[in-house]
Amino acid sequence: TTKTPLHSLHRLRDEIERRNPAQPEFHQAAHEVLETLAPVLAARPEYAEPGLLERLVEPERQIIFRVPWQDDQGRVHVNRGYRVEFNSALGPYKGGLRFHPSVDLGIVKFLGFEQVFKNALTGLGIGGGKGGSDFDPRGRSDAEVMRFCQSFMTELHRHIGEHTDVPAGDIGVGTREIGYLFGQYRRITNRWEGVLTGKGRGWGGSLVRPEATGYGNVLFAAAMLRERGEDLEGRTAVVSGSGNVALFTIEKLTALGANAVTCSDSGGYVVDEKGIDLGLLKQVKEVERGRVATYAERRGASATYVPGGRVWEVPADVALPSATQNELDEKDAAALVRNGVKAVSEGANMPTTPEAVRLLRQAGVAFGPGKAANAGGVAVSALEMAQNASRTAWPAERVEDELARIIDGIHTVCHETADRYGAPGDYVTGANIAGFERVADAMLAQGVI
Ligand code: GLU
Repeated sequence: TTKTPLHSLHRLRDEIERRNPAQPEFHQAAHEVLETLAPVLAARPEYAEPGLLERLVEPERQIIFRVPWQDDQGRVHVNRGYRVEFNSALGPYKGGLRFHPSVDLGIVKFLGFEQVFKNALTGLGIGGGKGGSDFDPRGRSDAEVMRFCQSFMTELHRHIGEHTDVPAGDIGVGTREIGYLFGQYRRITNRWEGVLTGKGRGWGGSLVRPEATGYGNVLFAAAMLRERGEDLEGRTAVVSGSGNVALFTIEKLTALGANAVTCSDSGGYVVDEKGIDLGLLKQVKEVERGRVATYAERRGASATYVPGGRVWEVPADVALPSATQNELDEKDAAALVRNGVKAVSEGANMPTTPEAVRLLRQAGVAFGPGKAANAGGVAVSALEMAQNASRTAWPAERVEDELARIIDGIHTVCHETADRYGAPGDYVTGANIAGFERVADAMLAQGVI
């Protein structure tokens, strides 16, 4: 047929909604990529090959399983486990596991789809996947979390492997959970292999993996500012979230001379005019597994807790959403712009709604999409795989240098690709097209599979 690319993109958009009912986040993520591809489809006829885009939006494999476990009182609970193996054209499936009550197939598919392009941008030979469960770890004892992880892995182990699919952490899955999952994998398979990343230091984990997502996002924001002749020194930054990504975002901002004044959780946010005290926040969040309200109680006069509020109402030069999807909407973006924000860089996956992205772009704000800006985490996961495969452990400086080099490379390729396709300064278009080109080239070379 002689359909124009734009025609077929619209048809595909409808098709995705029809074939994947009740998965709004997956629709959002797929549409966001597709709507930026028209220029590359027009310029490179091989990409308009029938079936390429249809294959790209259909996961290679979707696994859904029962996860039964017993709480401390002996009651049986049944959760649902997922692993979506989205695309392996570039390497083994790679991507985190999320344990959160909001997890469903649509959430896992949106995350897996994003992961495909993000991982391509790292240039490290990793395909894309994602998994998780609707299990809620909040308020669960250590023993309950262990039994849940063991049950989850009792099914998952048959689908993964160091050359097949290598999960890691995401929301609700940190070093503790990776430990329990890894232990169960070893026990069932009798194999020590680099099948999970984000392992503890001392048992195969890479130095700087915990820091990597947050550090990388700050480096990406710094690179966007540098492009405009500016830097982070002396800037005020707002950060949402208080998990692993937020903590190390705040750490790196502070190291680069910025003042990170906020953090948040689902209950509200803290604004601390002296800058967040990272030692105290780590104590409250990581040691005590508490809430940010406790941080404000202990910090004294400089900090205020705002229940139910959003950090985006706090005036700042830079905003780094580091909590969860769709946490920054059009109203929030308008507030940021009103207060003179210069850059927004996504530490979380798809935290900014499409309307908010549009508003920020129209206001001339530098916008770093998560699949580029937060790729530091999965990049260091790939470095962990390399260390495991070669039975070595790199010093922290080496990992940090590689991370900085990878983020700079991603920034450059996004910037140059945007230029090349007539969208200068548009990192969304740059990231989507650059990631797409790598995955599409590999898929075309490997035939219709
Ligand atoms: N969950 C992280 C992400 O969204 C890291 C995945 C990984 O290290 O495999 O990219």
